Amino acid sequence: MRYLSNVSTLEYDHSKCTGCRMCTQVCPHGVFEMEGKKARITDRDLCMECGACMKNCAFGAIIVQSGVGCAAALIKGMVTGDASCGCSDGDDKTSGCC
Ligand code: SF4
Ligand code: SF4
Repeated sequence: MRYLSNVSTLEYDHSKCTGCRMCTQVCPHGVFEMEGKKARITDRDLCMECGACMKNCAFGAIIVQSGVGCAAALIKGMVTGDASCGCSDGDDKTSGCC
């Protein structure tokens, strides 16, 4: 399942990756795969911000705001009927993603 484009907070630092493969094993959506001796992101929009990759990367190569990012909020919104992630609810309506 792909979520909305360019919403995930997932960040990957290629230079910190040691090629341990943990992220490819724990990600439920196959967001990471190995390319040679380093991981690479296959499709950022597959990420549901569960945080498993960040928790299991012992080298700090992955950062994701698990459970609080727009992707998670939008998924919750699909269930509850509120399509907004709430990031634009403040005074500055231009800073949010939706
Ligand atoms: S868990 Fe971290 S160090 Fe291991 S392959 Fe993935 S990004 Fe690289
Ligand atoms: S946060 Fe979860 S879904 Fe996203 S890349 Fe990491 S393990 Fe995969």
